[in-house]
Amino acid sequence: MSTRTLTLDDRLYGYLRGVSLREPDLLRRLREETAPLEMAGMQISPEQGQFMGLMVRVLGARRALEVGVFTGYSSLSVALALPADGELVACDVSAEWTSIARRYWAEAGVAGKIDLRLAPAADTLRELMLSGQAGAFDFAFIDADKGNYDAYYEACLELIRPGGVICIDNVLWGGRVADDAQADASTVALRALNRKLHDDARIDLSLLPLGDGVTLARKR
Ligand code: CA
Repeated sequence: MSTRTLTLDDRLYGYLRGVSLREPDLLRRLREETAPLEMAGMQISPEQGQFMGLMVRVLGARRALEVGVFTGYSSLSVALALPADGELVACDVSAEWTSIARRYWAEAGVAGKIDLRLAPAADTLRELMLSGQAGAFDFAFIDADKGNYDAYYEACLELIRPGGVICIDNVLWGGRVADDAQADASTVALRALNRKLHDDARIDLSLLPLGDGVTLARKR
């Protein structure tokens, strides 16, 4: 019926959620607690959280990385999908936002799987490499300051194993990446990274129009 990706109107989006969303009560409560916050737009959509949990299971991931925790929706989605002996190294600089995340991790019983590093993510990723953990991760999610996305991508590409997947959020940036009139630093950085990944022979690539645009990069 269509050889291009559908544009979802509200009715079809509601249908999509109605027939596929399986959001646990705890994730729903976290989403509702985050919604009134000033930075609530940083939270991923519930169908994206569910997709990431599915990716973790498909990969049989045991060790995961997250760059950008905010209030914890994505980390909780991933941690719930990891096996009991799984580990998520979660990077963020905000003690305030991650205090909400910690509360939900504890309530979900997954706090023991999550190693929260409150420091600039570039420093944490460098420390992981220096401690010999290159190739030791199965999955990474990048969702933080867009100006550093390229650096996060390069670090995560070293830290994941061949066959591992990096999931990069906000790559369509509300449509601004395709609007030549937009020249702010975040948009320019995302455009440059999108172009770079298109030609990057180190990965297999797919860009999904899910949420604000999600790139999947599988390390070859
Ligand atoms: Ca995001």
